[in-house]
Amino acid sequence: MKTLTKHIWFNTASRHEFVNITDQVEDIVKESGVKEGMVLVNPMHITASVYINDAESGLINDFQKWLEKLAPTDESLYQHNMTGEDNGYAHLWRTIMGREVVVAVTNGKLDFGPWEQIYYAEFDGQRKKRVLVKVIGE
Ligand code: ZN
Repeated sequence: MKTLTKHIWFNTASRHEFVNITDQVEDIVKESGVKEGMVLVNPMHITASVYINDAESGLINDFQKWLEKLAPTDESLYQHNMTGEDNGYAHLWRTIMGREVVVAVTNGKLDFGPWEQIYYAEFDGQRKKRVLVKVIGE
């Protein structure tokens, strides 16, 4: 069995950002030499998500509006912020949008359904953060 573990680093310009990381994950799968297996992708932080969906800018705006409606960024709403933090909403957004994705690797490629793309969603950015990519298989 082959394995490869790598990190992709981010330092987003904005506090909230949605970054398509499909090509970077695909490059790591290629580097691993795995033809049949799986790849796990997850942020190493509790205020960011990795999810799979359409690479369409309208949808990304819809996600942002929907998250703001479910858990507004207004700092006064969260007990978490009484600890001196200001990212109560970001923890909730991360839970809603998910922690990780697992994608099948077939013939050395990410085995996606139509339109599926891997996104890193940053909810409390402008600092160094990383995503773990672990490929296993043969
Ligand atoms: Zn926090």
